[in-house]
Amino acid sequence: MSRSAELFAEAQTVIPGGVNSPVRAFRGVGGTPVFFKRGEGAYLIDEDDRRYIDYVGSWGPMIAGHAHPQIIGAVIEAARHGLSFGAPTAIETVVARKVIELVPSIELLRMCSSGTEATMSAIRIARGYTGRDKIVKFEGCYHGHSDSLLVKAGSGMLTLGVPTSPGVPAELAQHTLTLPYNDIAALEACFQEYGAQIAGVIVEPVAGNMNCIPPQPGFLEALRAQCDASGAVLIFDEVMTGFRVARGGAQQYYGITPDMTTLGKIIGGGMPVGAFGGKRAIMEKLSPLGPVYQAGTLSGNPVAMAAGLATLELLCAEGFHERLSALTERLCRGLETAARDAGIPLCTNRAGGMFGFFFTERPSVSCYAEATACDTERFKRFFHGMLDEGVYLAPSAFEAGFLSSAHTEADIDATVAAAGRVFARIG
Ligand code: PMP
Repeated sequence: MSRSAELFAEAQTVIPGGVNSPVRAFRGVGGTPVFFKRGEGAYLIDEDDRRYIDYVGSWGPMIAGHAHPQIIGAVIEAARHGLSFGAPTAIETVVARKVIELVPSIELLRMCSSGTEATMSAIRIARGYTGRDKIVKFEGCYHGHSDSLLVKAGSGMLTLGVPTSPGVPAELAQHTLTLPYNDIAALEACFQEYGAQIAGVIVEPVAGNMNCIPPQPGFLEALRAQCDASGAVLIFDEVMTGFRVARGGAQQYYGITPDMTTLGKIIGGGMPVGAFGGKRAIMEKLSPLGPVYQAGTLSGNPVAMAAGLATLELLCAEGFHERLSALTERLCRGLETAARDAGIPLCTNRAGGMFGFFFTERPSVSCYAEATACDTERFKRFFHGMLDEGVYLAPSAFEAGFLSSAHTEADIDATVAAAGRVFARIG
């Protein structure tokens, strides 16, 4: 029995499903989750001392690779002075300034401790600012696990939302309207019917929670136009895309300016941090300036801020995102070629340093229905084949993959070579 299997068995006796976040349990791919004890740059080392090239990067934050000396050094230095004061510290302003410099649509920024808190608070402020209740989200987009956002479409395009989880009141879910991603006609129809009641639209400007699905030309523009016409707040959930698809996030990459932005993952460099910010007039509604309440004991925690700041400084290096994008392209093209050589239908999507691949005959995948129609059984075989080869991919066909600046062309080429061998084996 592997050490991971032993640890997993033990964990299940005291932790629900043995994990502290569901996708870690390998339910989507079967088998036993790998327990890791160490990360080094582009690699993870498991409890059995096996090394993997990592394309999960803790689901996005580790854009500079694992245990980067500059980040670890900043954390140790901050920790020496104490872990938390529950009072203002100078570094919070330094980080806020840095974020505002990188993401100019943000005029005021509030820190919190997770992406879930960031999106939940952004929704609350959009509702408080507009005095309206309805929220529009898109099928296949994930914005954390707050009640208003754990909602799927009811039957029919323009019906009110229904909860995706027991425990979410139907009365609350009905305020969330869920539309297909990249469907401008559905968006326009929705605003025609409900426009005056819509507080805000929340969107992943590149969807990374149904595999990786970039916006089609015109989609983000249509969101901007509908929000402008109706007075709804446009929220870009850049928890995943922020500082990753470009230094200024997806809003810079696609040239569309939201009213509010939510951040997480990279902004904490691996520590628990989220943030939300945007137009001054909206953010001034937030307590203590305004009546919309939001707070956090550990918000702006100095150790977490130190990790985030060190990460943001690293990704501001000249050519950082150009290199990351080039590596991501090399990986996607390599996977496509290896699949073609093996006679396996596969297409890829990417934006900056995030990517996805789909086992499908389709030339491209652009929405949830197309993503879920892909061959998930083949994905499972591929995932386990790659794991055996020492490549750690997201343990689900519906998650994006991430590169870091620690990855090299040699890592990519080794990954593609491994994929070639696995394709030949799994058929
Ligand atoms: N929004 C997006 C786009 C995400 O990808 C995630 C997490 N994967 C969240 C929000 C929630 O963030 P957290 O897990 O930090 O609560």
